[in-house]
Amino acid sequence: MNEDYRKIELIMALRNQGIRDRAILEAIERTPREMFLGPVFQPMAYSDQALPIACGQTISQPFVVAFMTDRLKLNKRCKVLEIGTGSGYQAAILSPLCRRVYTMERYRTLALEAGERFKQLGLGNITQMVGDGYKGWPNQSPFDRIIVTAAAKEVPEALADQLAVGGIMIIPLEDTSMNQDLVRITRSEKGYAYETLLPVRFVPLVEGVARES
Ligand code: SAH
Repeated sequence: MNEDYRKIELIMALRNQGIRDRAILEAIERTPREMFLGPVFQPMAYSDQALPIACGQTISQPFVVAFMTDRLKLNKRCKVLEIGTGSGYQAAILSPLCRRVYTMERYRTLALEAGERFKQLGLGNITQMVGDGYKGWPNQSPFDRIIVTAAAKEVPEALADQLAVGGIMIIPLEDTSMNQDLVRITRSEKGYAYETLLPVRFVPLVEGVARES
């Protein structure tokens, strides 16, 4: 089976699972996921599963990337903050759907590799920082949308503060029995409203910048 065929199959599977937004499906179709993987995992680029990347981290499952992107309700005016650049795949999907993506990663190695991919793909509206996502990116805030791609026990306070009024945040939250749910938080003038969307499995959100040898 060639790659194009696998890709079409993946897009069809995403449609069947309720992802109907054409711009999102198009972004997925146009983004070569194999570029975000090491050689060993490239043959699995279009199977709908999370896969290992460097530094013991993972690239999210395409369905989860599509689902989170869909539930963010993006438009071209949105300024988006992503916590957990990882491979850069989620940021690459967000890029054509919004005005600007600010993405933070605690591993310099991952951030550098992702930056190379953004350059190769000509994704000029992505700005990166190696830093602790728990602190957010105060001097670029407020953000219209915030997407956290690692699981926390509770919503980091800085991120809640940096979400614009009228903004939306999606974050995987872990409960006391270690299960995780994607939670969507909508900020209005009255405060924050929470909705539980989907059970998921993400790597943990870890405090501080990673020490690398
Ligand atoms: N969005 C990524 C998924 C990466 S997995 C992709 O599409 O490939 C989650 C990432 O979050 C990991 O790379 C991990 O190092 C990073 N991470 C975990 N805690 C963090 C923190 N406090 N600040 C920034 N990045 C963090």
